[in-house]
Amino acid sequence: MNLTSIGQDSHRFEPDGSRKPLVMGGIVIDGCAGLAGNSDADVVLHSITNAVSGISCVNILGKVSDDICLKQGVTDSKVYLQTAVDTLDGYRIVHVSITIEALRPHLARHIPAMRMSIATLLGLETNHVGITATTGEGLTAFGRGEGIQVFTILTVELCK
Ligand SMILES: [Zn+2]
Repeated sequence: MNLTSIGQDSHRFEPDGSRKPLVMGGIVIDGCAGLAGNSDADVVLHSITNAVSGISCVNILGKVSDDICLKQGVTDSKVYLQTAVDTLDGYRIVHVSITIEALRPHLARHIPAMRMSIATLLGLETNHVGITATTGEGLTAFGRGEGIQVFTILTVELCK
């Protein structure tokens, strides 16, 4: 049996002058402001983490991730994602489809590296990590370059 879930996340950019790096899908993207948040603010991994919670019904972003971040000092969103994956009792991730709305940075040339990074994190073949990106054409805060929004559709299969 397969199940499908959705996850979403968004962050605003750090103010001008911030030196926080931009981290998306577990990779650092140079040449663009970082995103605001207690953690590394990896909006892509947070979106996937929420999609995983949509299967397990165990919410990680929020109280659990705040405990990991603020009490244990772990700001690497890969840890939050792994914490969520660990709650997927009996289900195996088979495909992830991600769509990003951002005026900046220009994402097309970063998509191959993001796909490889996410595939490694989730134990998938790269061809089971699809990522599309749109500039949003100024219609929303994301399309105006104020932040980045990500949606993830996750497919899992029952494995026991
Ligand atoms: Zn987030």
